[in-house]
Parts: sequence; structure tokens; C-alpha cells
Amino acid sequence: MTQSVFLYNTLTRRKEEFKPYNPPYVGMYVCGPTVYGDAHLGHARPAITFDIIYRYLSHLGYKVRYVRNITDVGHLENDADAGEDKISKKARLEQLEPMEVVQYYTIRYHKSMDALNVLRPSIEPHASGHIIEQIEMVKKIMDKGYAYESEGSIYFDVLKFNKDYPYGKLSGRSVDEMISNTRDLDGQDEKRNSFDFALWKKAQPEHIMRWPSPWSDGFPGWHMECSAMGAKYLGEVFDIHGGGMDLIFPHHEAEIAQSVAANGKEAVKYWLHNNMITINGQKMGKSLGNFITLDQFFDGSHEKLEKAYSPMNIRFFILQAQYRGTVDFSNEALQAAEKGYKKLMEALRTLDKLKPSEKSSVEIASIKDDCYQAMNDDFNTPQLIAALFEATRLINLINDGKETITINELELLKNTFKTFVIDILGLYDETSSSGNESVISGLMDTILTLRQDAKQKKDWATSDLIRDKLKSIGIQVKDTKDGATWSLD
Ligand code: ZN
Repeated sequence: MTQSVFLYNTLTRRKEEFKPYNPPYVGMYVCGPTVYGDAHLGHARPAITFDIIYRYLSHLGYKVRYVRNITDVGHLENDADAGEDKISKKARLEQLEPMEVVQYYTIRYHKSMDALNVLRPSIEPHASGHIIEQIEMVKKIMDKGYAYESEGSIYFDVLKFNKDYPYGKLSGRSVDEMISNTRDLDGQDEKRNSFDFALWKKAQPEHIMRWPSPWSDGFPGWHMECSAMGAKYLGEVFDIHGGGMDLIFPHHEAEIAQSVAANGKEAVKYWLHNNMITINGQKMGKSLGNFITLDQFFDGSHEKLEKAYSPMNIRFFILQAQYRGTVDFSNEALQAAEKGYKKLMEALRTLDKLKPSEKSSVEIASIKDDCYQAMNDDFNTPQLIAALFEATRLINLINDGKETITINELELLKNTFKTFVIDILGLYDETSSSGNESVISGLMDTILTLRQDAKQKKDWATSDLIRDKLKSIGIQVKDTKDGATWSLD
């Protein structure tokens, strides 16, 4: 690799040069959605953040195996192992099978992510498809003595673990602090300490999603799936583990403890976390009533939205911030992002019209360097966008005849600009779908001309056949005195 990438490791709290265990192969695991509702703006940020990392590392020549899971079991309403399973609850309320809920929202999640031009991961494993692997890992942790059974459930013994390995180093929490901050258990609780977490939960009689295990009919704890599936698809040690900052504790802290307890070593070299999206400075949440789904953004149907915002508008808006910085949603910010996005798309179109000259008055190599430097510095997309705006300025000056460019420099400019805008930032020109429309209208002109010919030759069979065939695919043909017109149903 000719580029040195530096990334901020949440575990060491500093930027480190990226050195995969087994180059050019890279293993990357990202916590995916719990599929019990429509994807919202908060889902778009981790998806886009790790999409950019996936795209950039792949561009540099790494062979990235990108695993992003689907959580379809074990994620309870309360992160401290309490409440109903989120999928089961939705299924009960909607009178559906839990797997109907999972299927429905997984498809909708994919649709939203496809719209945002987020590339699909290499593997997308479901937690419910890996119950055996999770039970095996719980057994290993039990065998090492870092978990205990209580009323058919298995809990991770944080105090015992902490005697041998530091617990809390990812989140910066200490066990002493946890002890002093926790409520007293009232003796009814199955856990020895409130900060112990479930590896396996015994299912209550009314609980629908349940599997047999050596301990009880039940289901795995939420943190187990990522440890088990990460190890299965990326090996006991792998390079990158990502997710939102809200997952650092308890989810990722628990994952580290589980892997160390089971295998005696940490699974992950680099922990990467994206920051959150707030709405007018407030955390987004269903209960706060400021929860806007991606579909609502795309069609503008939420009351807080002044208009519809296209998928590329949303994508550009998120990329305007470095992934570890906060993003605050407002209509003004999205409309400003729309202008920036359109400026880049306009530059893409202008770029193809530029004519080379004998001499260059501009120098492109430094722009290319700036683009790589931005991405090498912890995937700094706002800095990259600034470099691309500088390129845009030059493109417009060349187009206006105020600067000149040689054919070689023009090739370099085209190559750099398109690589970073299209391949790495993953932006495309949404208005180019009107390109498709012009193709369709061209085709329809041809078909209707053929039909007109048939009619003039009194070949009614052909003319009716064309009309009926078009009708069957939803295109209505209407004959007028000036010829035929068409419309979609
Ligand atoms: Zn996870």
C-alpha cells in the first residue's frame, strides 16, 4: 500500500497507523441494526461511516471482508438485561411471527441503505442463525470460570474477570466506580452484581423466541452474537470493529470481556466509533418525539421537515462532518448540504466538457495529494470535500477560459475527481435518472412511430398488438388527431 492510513482507536485513545494482521486482507465487523422498526437518521450515520472506510480501504487495494450483523434476537428493551425482546414485542403487538417482523424490517433497511448508496457488506449474519456458536462460546466462558448459572440463566462474572484482566478499558470506566454507582440488589435479582451481564437468558413461559441449551430453554444475551459471529467469520483476532459511540458501553465492553474470557486474548486491534446525530441539539429517540425515519426524509412527510430531502442530500450532509464529530440536524443544515452536493454534481458534468490546451496554468497533483491526506487522516471527509471544492473552483475557471489545462493534467483531474466523489464518497448524480427518462421517451417515440406506420398501412393487428402490449406493462396510449400520446398508469 502506498498510502499510510491513520485511524483513531477508541481503545488506545490515539491515532494509530493502520497495520492489518494479515495484509492485504482486512477483517471488519460492524454492529448492524436491530430490525424491529424503520431505519432513521441515526441508522444512516454508522452505515455511511463504515461504508466510507470499506470503500477507501478497498480503493487502496486491501481485500476487506466486511461483516455487519442483523440483530434479530436477544436485544432487550433495557440494556441491563431487562424488559421484553424488541423483536418479540413488535411481533406480539402486530400479531406476527417474530421472523415476519425480522424479514419485513430487514428488507426495508436494505432499501433505505441502497438508496443512500451504502454498499452491502460481504457477510450479513443473523444472530438467530448462530445460536449454536453462541452456546459454544458461553460454554467456553463457563469452563474458564468467568460466568455463573442462576435460575437457568448464565451471567458474566465481572468482578471475577476484573481480578485477572482489566474490565472497562474501552469505555474508561473502572469497576470500583461501577460498584459505588450501582444500586443495591434486593436479593430477588438473579445477578450477583447489577453490572454483571447476561450470556444466556432462560425464557419465561410466554417468551416466543427460545432455543434449547444445557442450562435452559432460552435465548442468548445481546452481546454474545457479535463475539460469536465476529470470531466465526473473521477469526479469533481481526482488525477493525466498529459501531456507534452509544455501543461502547455496555455492548462493546462486554464483547471484549467475552472474547478475552473465552480465548484468553482480545479479538480486535482497532475499535472505531462514530458519533451520534442530534436534532436541534437533542438526542434522537422514539420517546422524545423527534424521531424521523429515512423514508420520511425522502418524501418530506414528517412535520419537522420543511421539504423532502433526497438520499444523496442526506449522505452528503453526514459526510460533511468527520465521523467522530457530532452532527446536528436542522432544515437549514440539510439545505446547505444540498447546495454543496449540487455544486459537486455540477462540477462532474462540467468536467466532461472541458477542452485541453497546449499548456497548463493549473497543477492537479497537489489536489490529489490533499484528497489522499484527508482520507489518510482518520477518514476526514470534510477535509476531502474541501479539497474537492478547490478542484471544483479550478474546473469552473478552466471552463470559463480563465485557466488552461493540458490533456495529461485533465486526465489526472478527471480521474482524481471521479475517484473521490463517486467511488470513495459514494455520491452519484441523482438528476441522471432523468437520463433514463430521456431514453424511455426516445424508445416510446420509436414504438409509436412504428405503430403509426402500421396504422397507415391499415395493419390494425400490429397497431392493436403494440397498444395492448404497452397497456399490459402499464403504459396507456391515447390516439389524438395529431398522433398518439402515452402516459404511465
Ligand atoms: Zn454488536
